Amino acid sequence: MTRPLLIAGNWKMNGGPRESAELAGGIRERLGDLPDSVQVLICPPFVSIPAASVALDGSETVWLGAQDVHYEDEGAYTGEVSTSMLRELGCTHVIVGHSERREFFGESDTTVNYKLRKALGAELTPVVCVGESLQQRKKGTHQRMVGKQVEAAFTEVSIDDAPGVIVAYEPLWAIGTGETATPQQAQEMHDMIRSAITDLYDLETARAVQILYGGSMKPRNARELLEQPDVDGGLVGGASLEAESFAAIVEIAEQISSD
Ligand code: PEP
Repeated sequence: MTRPLLIAGNWKMNGGPRESAELAGGIRERLGDLPDSVQVLICPPFVSIPAASVALDGSETVWLGAQDVHYEDEGAYTGEVSTSMLRELGCTHVIVGHSERREFFGESDTTVNYKLRKALGAELTPVVCVGESLQQRKKGTHQRMVGKQVEAAFTEVSIDDAPGVIVAYEPLWAIGTGETATPQQAQEMHDMIRSAITDLYDLETARAVQILYGGSMKPRNARELLEQPDVDGGLVGGASLEAESFAAIVEIAEQISSD
């Protein structure tokens, strides 16, 4: 099965509405028509989503997503944002369980699973992040830890819904550090994640799930990562904050998909 390559930008807490509009506009300008085999998503901070949306001006080339969502519909959850609010803004995707949410905001595997299921129920595509710490990798427990995160993320997700989940493998030691997993390390982990999904469902389902790599992906290293058979795109942090470098990664994905 050939899965499309998705290049997703996680802008994190960078860019108010004005700056985000400029960045979204810059990305839109640089991308021509894309083949179906390449998809593009940007995830600005909540408050900047409307401005980015206006700058995209109905572009069907670039999808809009959020970086987090709450798992309840509404109510007394100060500071939180619901799936229906995101839908109203035109979001099609939402990142859940980013390692920074897990580390700094105490999100557990259970919370991440609630959010993932809430997103699916609201017809928002969840991009669920998993990944091991440096310590876990050094101890050799990385496969087991990431396998557990995958299993927890898919808890109570039906076989019909599972292909609608996107997994992002993001080794913590590679996020924002400039250090990247080698293509072999990425492929090995993506293959392991696909096997874990096969065990939970079946091979056909696992083959349908897109698995992105995240962790210091840049134009200079994107090609070798995106060429791996089980790497179906990238979740890009730092390099998504400049239209030029983000568009350069999309261009590499285009070249690979046409090879
Ligand atoms: C991320 O935080 O999702 C990420 C991959 O960041 P960076 O590309 O900056 O490592």
